[in-house]
Amino acid sequence: MYDWLIVGAGFAGSVLAERLASQRNERVLLIDRRPHVGGNAYDRYDEAGLLIHQYGPHIFHTNSKQIFDHLSQFTDWRFYEHRVLAEVDGQLLPVPINLDTVNKLYGRNLTSEELEGWFASRAETVDQVRTSEDVVVSKVGRELYEKFFRGYTRKQWGLDPSELDKSVTARVPTRTNRDDRYFGDEFQFMPKHGYTRMFESMLDHPNINIMVQTEYDDVKDVVPYRRLIYTGPIDEFFEYRFGKLPYRSLHFRHVMLDKEWHQPVAVVNYPQTHDYTRVTEYKHLTGQTHSKTALTYEFPSSTGDPYYPVPKPENQELYKRYERLALATRDVWFVGRLATYRYYNMDQIVGQALATFRRINESLPVEAATPAVRLVGSPAALAS
Ligand code: FAD
Ligand code: UDP
Repeated sequence: MYDWLIVGAGFAGSVLAERLASQRNERVLLIDRRPHVGGNAYDRYDEAGLLIHQYGPHIFHTNSKQIFDHLSQFTDWRFYEHRVLAEVDGQLLPVPINLDTVNKLYGRNLTSEELEGWFASRAETVDQVRTSEDVVVSKVGRELYEKFFRGYTRKQWGLDPSELDKSVTARVPTRTNRDDRYFGDEFQFMPKHGYTRMFESMLDHPNINIMVQTEYDDVKDVVPYRRLIYTGPIDEFFEYRFGKLPYRSLHFRHVMLDKEWHQPVAVVNYPQTHDYTRVTEYKHLTGQTHSKTALTYEFPSSTGDPYYPVPKPENQELYKRYERLALATRDVWFVGRLATYRYYNMDQIVGQALATFRRINESLPVEAATPAVRLVGSPAALAS
């Protein structure tokens, strides 16, 4: 008898599995349909021994000391500040747009103060900033929007920025100084030995059993458990009762090159050319020394694994209908990027999982464990 069945071994499921096992001494079965733990943050060594991220580049950054300290129990860190260049009009220029971006693009020598005026003279007046187009044109004007954002966003989402919620492009700031870091957060690190090692350390507890390549549907009526934590797509859980929630997918092309370096920074974005959005060279992130180098090209797609919820008002409305159903479903907690349909980074998912753990503690005193609600089989039956 498990106290918990947890569906999904990404950050949401794994953080909760560890907390329930170590702090409440409860028995957890953690399953994932993929052949590994770590969810989208999974990394592995390729055939040349280069550490790559199977599902695209994952850079840890947070302003929360609590979240950083929590993960620090399971990994040492490598200091790393992420830098991105975009190929625009044939030049590689810093993104987020900053003083150097504008000076290089236009062959100018503006100061920060002059750039503020330069932006102000080009910014469009937008009464209410609602869309991802509004965010950018109201700050830097239409020309930079077209060069850096419109094409990239149309490729990434299959939608025009004017159709997407403002929160999408608002993830990328605009700067008038020379700060060329992609993130401004206080804590910016990579797990020293990779994400997968961190997950393995987190999940190394006698109360946690892990089954990979295991579908929720295949175990739900077979394994006995009291309560469920579900971190997969919420619409799938409810068998698409209200229709499908759109999730954007990506196809990854992993490439290994027989040369030491390919590009000057970890990520180069392609807002104007190619079918892929960006190219990642992992050695910049991992600090690995190797005579070869590994890259990933990201091709956005409407088909494939669900990676991104699509922030649009009508999608949020549809999600709200599923959320109401979720709230009315006893003994099931919905956590994570797919189950709560939120475009969250890793640290936000860790925060959400820790908050869920606090709510579980408030509503379920350990000693008051209720009788099984889903006792419908045995592990022996599952094994057969
Ligand atoms: P997931 O990692 O998606 O885990 C959910 C797991 O549930 C999956 O492994 C899935 O196989 C499993 N599952 C689903 N349904 C079932 C089922 N029915 N049965 C069994 N298993 C099931 N965040 C950052 O902070 N920094 C970054 O640089 C960054 N880069 C990113 C780049 C890309 C390309 C993508 C897609 C995301 C990136 N993120 C980044 C976001 C980060 O991946 C997520 O915030 C985080 O991994 C979400 O964790 P999760 O546990 O909610 O979901
Ligand atoms: N974006 C863009 N051009 C860029 C970088 C980002 O248009 O050079 C937009 C695009 O819509 C993207 C969003 O900003 O989806 C958020 O970018 P981020 O790098 O945070 O995306 P993620 O790493 O989550 O894929």
